[in-house]
Amino acid sequence: MSLDENCIFCKILRGEIPSDKVYEDGDMLAFRDIHPQAKVHVLCVPKSHFSYLSEMGEKERGLVGKCMAKLPEIARLAGIENGYRVIINQGEDAGQTVFHLHIHILGGQNMGENLL
Ligand code: 5GP
Ligand code: ZN
Repeated sequence: MSLDENCIFCKILRGEIPSDKVYEDGDMLAFRDIHPQAKVHVLCVPKSHFSYLSEMGEKERGLVGKCMAKLPEIARLAGIENGYRVIINQGEDAGQTVFHLHIHILGGQNMGENLL
């Protein structure tokens, strides 16, 4: 796994910053968002530093696929029962603020029109 010295999520992956862990395996870490935008708000982060979704190509499809396929279990472990919204913010116009690819899982409530 290749991590970035200054990236906040890489620091979480290295254990230098604490996180409220929901799930972990060799490929990813899922932890609760520090500023939740829903009753349950979890981030799933691959254990390699990629700044953007747009950097992901054929070589990375396995890693992205594993993260996506694990979301139902992560949602269950986080206590979500009635569905959830999955979001990836890509770049400036999406309002991406942390430049380590991450998947938002939002639920625990009716999400209505709230798009994060
Ligand atoms: P983005 O806007 O880049 O898609 O989302 C970044 C998310 O990371 C935000 O929802 C923000 O609250 C969350 N976040 C930023 N720093 C930390 C942190 O140190 N710990 C945790 N758990 N979440 C963080
Ligand atoms: Zn990183």
